[in-house]
Order: sequence, then C-alpha cells, then structure tokens
Amino acid sequence: MEIINQLLTIDPNHIVIGLIVVFFSLEMAIIRPINFKGKLNHLFNSFLFQLIAIFMGTLLGFMAITTFDFISQNEFGLFNWVQIPFWLKITVGVFLIDFADYWFHRFDHKIPILWRFHRVHHSDTSMDASTAIRTFPTELIYFTFGELIISVIFGLDIISMNIFLLILLPALFIQHTSLQYPNWVDKTLGWLIMMPNFHKVHHEQDQFYTDSNYGTLFILWDRLFGTFKIKPVNEIKYGLKEFEGNKKQSFAYLIKSPFINIKRVTNKKPAPNKV
Ligand SMILES: [Zn+2]
Ligand SMILES: [Zn+2]
Repeated sequence: MEIINQLLTIDPNHIVIGLIVVFFSLEMAIIRPINFKGKLNHLFNSFLFQLIAIFMGTLLGFMAITTFDFISQNEFGLFNWVQIPFWLKITVGVFLIDFADYWFHRFDHKIPILWRFHRVHHSDTSMDASTAIRTFPTELIYFTFGELIISVIFGLDIISMNIFLLILLPALFIQHTSLQYPNWVDKTLGWLIMMPNFHKVHHEQDQFYTDSNYGTLFILWDRLFGTFKIKPVNEIKYGLKEFEGNKKQSFAYLIKSPFINIKRVTNKKPAPNKV
C-alpha cells in the first residue's frame, strides 16, 4: 500500500512525458524501416494535444476533488450504505470507472455530435504510441464526467480513481504503440484485459471494426455486451478515410475538425471475418 501511495503522488504529466520518451525510443530502435522526420512530426502533432491536456489538469483535478469531497462528507453512494471491505471497494471501484468509460466511449461512436470530437483520436492514419495522447481536449472532460457520475452513484473512494489513472497511462501507450505483440499474448489475459491487438482493431478504418472493442482497461465489457471483434493486426488499415492526406493530419486541421461538416466514409460491403 505504501508503494501505491508513493506512486499516487507522482504528477501524471511527468508519467506521460516519461512514457513518450520510453516508447518513442523503443519504436525508433526496433521498427524498420523508419521515417525519422515523419515520426518526429507525428509526435509533435500529438504532443500539442498533450500541452492542452496539461493546462486542463487543474480543471479536471478540481472536478474530481469536489466530487470525492462531496461523496466522503455526505457518505453518499451505494458502498457507503452497505458494509464491504475497503480493498474490495477500491478494486470494484477501478472496474466501475472502466465500466463508465466503456459506455461513454460507446456513446462517442453512436451520437454524431460526440463522434465529431472523438474522431480526432481515430483519424490517425499512422498510429504509434503518441496516438495515445491525440485526444480532443473536451474528451477529457467528457470521460472524467462519466467516471465521476459512477463514483457518486456507488460512493467510490478517490483511491480507486487514482489507481485507475495510474494503470491507464501506461496501458494507453502499450495499446497504441506500433511495436508488434505476438498473438499468444492475447490468449493469456485476453478474456479480461484490453490487449493491444484488440484496441488496434478499434482503430481499423472499416466502421464494422471501429464500432467495437470500446473498453479502456478491460475487454470484459465488450465480451459481455457483444461488441468484441477481432482481426489480424497485419491486415488493419488505420485511421479514417475522410482524414487521409498530410493536411488533414496536421494539428491545425485536427483542432478545428469537430466544427467542420465532414461526411463519414463507410465501407458499404459487409465485412468478412465476422466474429
Ligand atoms: Zn473510439
Ligand atoms: Zn485508441
């Protein structure tokens, strides 16, 4: 518990910067052929989104602290009305926060106005670890809002939220990196955890696959609610057809893209490999 407490005191922005350095170096060292200039440019575009996220940290922190203060001062929520061991409350809390993310992510894909903002993350045609931080700023508020709603309903402890965040950051980089993972990795904890190969399917251009594997840390929800799909990673075409071309991959275009009417290009033919 002491180690967890120590880890929880680290500034999440420092963790993100560390992860960017580690994964950028690994991808540079292992992947061949590599286009250094293109990769650096790609990282720079993603990093500009992270800069905004750093400035938004105060707002997100304020939202979380206000909510968890309300829960503890009023002993509000289901877990405050029934007696359960503390460790169980914390563990279930992590799962419940991921459960909220699953549904809010699913709404992102199904509600057109939400998709305009979420598609910035999906638009990346050359996915690598830095895609993990290519998120439109309002999405951070949106997902935090969902996580806090479920926290109030169940009376969660802020420790669950902090542990979730601590696991989330490396998980996002592991899921998005262009490093290849062997298929047997999926067979270990692939019934429970969102394995990188599963999240990569979520970035396939074909909407049949884009609208699947919504889980953040856990694939369990997709398996339970029928949204789990699989496709060999080497057959995946990343991004969105309507965002192809250098101009549409630039930060300047991406940041204004939610406010532009962009028609979604979908594959009309039924996709093969249905699961
Ligand atoms: Zn998505
Ligand atoms: Zn992603």
